[in-house]
Amino acid sequence: MIKLEHITQTYVSPDGTAFDALKDVSIHIRSGEIFGIIGRSGAGKSTLVRCINLLNRPTSGSVIVDGQDLTKLSDDNLRKVRRSIGMIFQHFNLLSSRTVYDNIALPLELTGTPKDQIREKITPLIHLVGLDEHANKYPSQLSGGQKQRVGIARALANDPKVLLSDEATSALDPETTVATLELLKRINQELGVTIVMITHEMNVVKQICGRVVVMNKGEIVEEGDVIDIFARP
Ligand code: ADP
Ligand code: ADP
Repeated sequence: MIKLEHITQTYVSPDGTAFDALKDVSIHIRSGEIFGIIGRSGAGKSTLVRCINLLNRPTSGSVIVDGQDLTKLSDDNLRKVRRSIGMIFQHFNLLSSRTVYDNIALPLELTGTPKDQIREKITPLIHLVGLDEHANKYPSQLSGGQKQRVGIARALANDPKVLLSDEATSALDPETTVATLELLKRINQELGVTIVMITHEMNVVKQICGRVVVMNKGEIVEEGDVIDIFARP
């Protein structure tokens, strides 16, 4: 479903020195799986995942989602494809001046969806993430776990096939992390959403991921089923 092929990302600093954040990286992600990308800070995980929705345009290589090479699409078509790819973040990226409801509704407002259709769509999503009683609160009135559930609901507003998670539990305490991962598992199983998950936390990988790649200095140094990679003596 997602094929990143021969991705290279070169950053050139103002003094002209070039740095390869990704060096000929290829990954294939299957429909319906929870795929983990792990490795130390600076390994290139975010850069790689941001290629999947072209939030980051690779220096070379192809990004194939559902058979289409996104690097070859017009801006208009790319915008449409991006809607089928939701994203959640470490620091939630909510708008503080909007309520829970209005944060979740934002992606639909941006596509010009009529108000009554937005309500029809958002109400079950708020229920799915367990925030029925908090719909009219502002982000500052919520706990970290609640804020991330707003982020998750917002990412699902456009019915994405894929959810990208960039260290989504790194700012949460262990208990909230477990609950958030349970929610992501349900979303994967009940809605059939493919999840691509960046993390540096081993317990997260073990709780939720199927296949994983381990990155180091812009390269994949290991890949396989999480059980095979981490159950070795
Ligand atoms: P990770 O997600 O594994 O922490 P990143 O993908 O964020 O790694 O970063 C990989 C490397 O690329 C790091 O050394 C980082 O400093 C560098 N990098 C990331 N984004 C940029 C950028 N926009 N310009 C220059 N260097 C960058
Ligand atoms: P986060 O930890 O939330 O992923 P980062 O601090 O890694 O955030 O990166 C924030 C932004 O800065 C990203 O868009 C990333 O591409 C960019 N960035 C990261 N490292 C560098 C760098 N060395 N030079 C320029 N931009 C960078």
